[in-house]
Amino acid sequence: MNNAEFSRKPKNSLTNFSDDIPAALRDNPDVSASKVNVVRPIILFIGGVAGFISLAIISGFMFSLTAPKTATNSQPNLNHQTTTQKPSDNKKSADFQNNTSDRILGHFAYSEAPVSELVGVSPNRRIKLRRAAADKFKEMVADAKAQGVNLVPISGFRTVKEQKKLFFGIGAQRNETPAQRAAVSAPPNYSEHHTGYAVDIGDAGVPATNFITSFENTSAFKWLESNAARYAFELSFPQGNSQGVSYEPWHWRFVGDIHSLETFYKGQDVKPLLKDTSSTESSSQDDS
Ligand SMILES: [Zn+2]
Repeated sequence: MNNAEFSRKPKNSLTNFSDDIPAALRDNPDVSASKVNVVRPIILFIGGVAGFISLAIISGFMFSLTAPKTATNSQPNLNHQTTTQKPSDNKKSADFQNNTSDRILGHFAYSEAPVSELVGVSPNRRIKLRRAAADKFKEMVADAKAQGVNLVPISGFRTVKEQKKLFFGIGAQRNETPAQRAAVSAPPNYSEHHTGYAVDIGDAGVPATNFITSFENTSAFKWLESNAARYAFELSFPQGNSQGVSYEPWHWRFVGDIHSLETFYKGQDVKPLLKDTSSTESSSQDDS
């Protein structure tokens, strides 16, 4: 349709409209047949428009009936941080949920490291860590050995399937409830060992202390306490840890690159540890 046609047609119908409506309104029985023929389509047209408007009003009314329901549902959601949020809040909401609900019995959710990232750290290569962690771990073991301390890896990367056996299988053997079990072991999907950054360390000279708290009396533990941070390893579950997990002096994690740091700390609201400012190690390099 071109513009000329578009502007002409309404003009014609408007002319007919003003000519014929008064006759229709008078409801004159003498109205001529020709006039009725012209008036009828106009009445049909008006009826059609009226019908359309009515439909629009009714559908608007129906919408107004449902709209308040949505608003009512979204109101408590804002308070309780559940899934129905404004689009702009989606990311914030996802972060919030990671911080709170991705946690079970004190343990945080972790995904399995890709197999291609794993490197053997034991003589038979069966115990594996992520490459970055493995490199630092080997360096740490070599330096400790040079100082007469024999650190040995006793567990590294674990699959979710393996953790399932450890959590449920051993828990059943020991008659432990999930809460009791979670104090000493992480549920599958929630173990730091899935990340490939966590390693359980033993003292080669005292294997009887493997996986027990008396490991803290070994020269291996004492050496780790004094030196592990140099190699970017830290104790995951020190005494009185905020996760409520039992003290595990043998369980260390690598936090020496941004990925490992984000894996363990992102969204957990852990504050930096204030150190004594009179320390001789403070310098201009300590600057955020
Ligand atoms: Zn461990």
